[in-house]
Amino acid sequence: MLSLKDPLLLKTQLFINGEWVKGDSGSTFPILNPATGTEICKLASGNKNDTNIAIQGAQSAMQKWRQTTAKHRAKILQKWHALIIENIDDLASILCAEQGKPLAEAKGEILYGAAYIEWFAEEAKRIYGDVIPSNNTSQRLLTIKQAIGVVAAITPWNFPNAMITRKVAPALAAGCAVVLKPAEATPLSALALAELAKRAGLPKGLLSIVVGADAIEIGKALTDSSLVRKLSFTGSTKVGKLLIKQCADTVKKTSMELGGNAPFVVFEDADIDKAVQGAIASKFRNAGQTCVCANRFLVQRSIYQEFTDKFVAEAKKLKVGNGNDEGITIGPLINAAAAQNVHALVTDAEKNGATKVLGGAATHLGANYYLPTILTNVTPQMRIFKEEIFGPVAPIIPFDTEEQALELANATEAGLASYVYTQNYARIWRFSENLENGIVGINEGIISSEVAPFGGIKQSGNGREGSKYGIDDYIEIKYLCMGGI
Ligand code: NAP
Repeated sequence: MLSLKDPLLLKTQLFINGEWVKGDSGSTFPILNPATGTEICKLASGNKNDTNIAIQGAQSAMQKWRQTTAKHRAKILQKWHALIIENIDDLASILCAEQGKPLAEAKGEILYGAAYIEWFAEEAKRIYGDVIPSNNTSQRLLTIKQAIGVVAAITPWNFPNAMITRKVAPALAAGCAVVLKPAEATPLSALALAELAKRAGLPKGLLSIVVGADAIEIGKALTDSSLVRKLSFTGSTKVGKLLIKQCADTVKKTSMELGGNAPFVVFEDADIDKAVQGAIASKFRNAGQTCVCANRFLVQRSIYQEFTDKFVAEAKKLKVGNGNDEGITIGPLINAAAAQNVHALVTDAEKNGATKVLGGAATHLGANYYLPTILTNVTPQMRIFKEEIFGPVAPIIPFDTEEQALELANATEAGLASYVYTQNYARIWRFSENLENGIVGINEGIISSEVAPFGGIKQSGNGREGSKYGIDDYIEIKYLCMGGI
C-alpha cells in the first residue's frame, strides 16, 4: 500500500469535466508496481463514450478560457506549479511506485515537469503577433496568434509526469483545453497532477484525463473527432505513424515526439573521464528507458580500450533494485516483456560476434530487472545498432576517421538526440552541423531543459516541446488585412 502525506492524491477514477467519475463501462484495470509486481490499486477504465464526453466538455470550456488574459492563465499555471512543488514527496512516491525509477530520479522528474508549467506561465504573456509592412499604401497587414482549439495528448509510461506537463502547460497557456490519455501502465501521476490543477483553480473541462485498458478505442475517439484540432503524441514511432494516418481525415495539426537511436561519439581528443561521466548519465538514466538515451557508443579506435575500461568500471558502481530503497540507482524495467526485448537484442548481438564485458539478465532480482550491460565488438549489421534498446545496455562500436563516425552516427531513420565528445572546436562545429538530429549534446550527457527546444527530425517526429518555440504547436496564425486606409 502506498503511504502518502496526502492520500487524496492517489486517484482511482477518471477525471472528466472537472469531476472524478467511474466511467461509462464501470470496469476497472489494475496498476502494478514494476519493482515488486504487486497491485497499487485498481483504476476505472475509460472508453470512447468517456472520451467523447471529455471532448465536448473541453470544447465548451475553452470558449471562455481562450478569451481570458494571458496574465489570468499564467496565474493559474503558477499556482499549479507551486502546488506540485509543495507535494513533491507524494508525487515522487506515486511515480516511483508505478514507473519504477529510483525515488531521487522521480523527484528530479517532478521538478523537471513542473519547470515546464512555470516556463509556459511566463511564455503565455509573449504570444506576440506582427505588423507587416504592406505593398499597398491603403492597407495595413497584421497577424494575431490564437489558441488552436481542443488538444488531444497521448503520453508514454517512461516519464509519467514530465511528458504530460510538456504538452498540457503550453496548451493551457495558449488558451486551449486538453483531453489527455496517459499510458495504461502509469496513469496515477497524471491523475495526481489533475487533482492539483483542480486545487489550483483550473476551470472544469480544460483538462480531462481518460485512460483505459483499450488504448486503440480511446485513441480512435480522439483522432476521429472533428472538435479535436490538434494531437500531440509522445511514444513509439510505430504508433506515431498510425496516429498521423488517423488524423488525416480531420486534417489535424500533429506534433510527434517519437523514438530515438542516439549516437554517442567519442573522439581521441576528448576528455575521456568526462565522456565516461556523460555516457553513464545518458545511458543509464531511467534504466535506459528514455528516448534520448545513448543507444550506440561510437569510439575512436585509439582510445577504444581506455574508454571501455573506464566505462565498465563506472557502470559496475550502479546499484540495481527497488527504486524505493536507499542507494538504488537503477530500478526495474517497466515490465517483463521489456526486459525480454532487451535480452533478445543482447543475445542477437552475442550470436553475431559481440562480446559481453559486463551485465546481462538479472533473474535473481525478478523478471522485470536487467543489469547494466556493456557490449564490445558490435557492428552496424546487428539489430542492437539499428533498434532502440530502451534498456540499460551500451553497445560500443569502434571507428577510425571523422567521416566514418559521421556516417555511422547518421546511419539510422531516427534523428532525436546525439552526443559528441571532442576538445577540437572546429570539429565541434563541423560535426554538430552534419549530424542528422534535433538535439546535439556537446561534451554533455544531459541535455533536457524547459528553456530549450526538445524534438527530433527524420522519423523521430516533428514539433518542439519547451523553449520559446514550444507554444507554436498550440496556436494558429491569423492574418488580418485592413483596407481602405
Ligand atoms: P507506445 O507504445 O507508442 O505508447 C505511447 C502511448 O500511446 C501510450 O499512452 C499508449 O497507450 C498509446 N497507444 C498505443 N497504441 C495506441 C493506439 N493504437 N492508439 C492510441 N494510443 C495508443 O510507446 P511506449 O512504449 O509507451 O513509450 C516508449 C516510446 O516512446 C519509445 O519509442 C520512446 O523513444 C518514445 N518516447 C519519445 C519521447 C520523445 O520526446 N521523443 C519521449 C519519451 C518516449 P497504452 O500505454 O495504454 O497502451
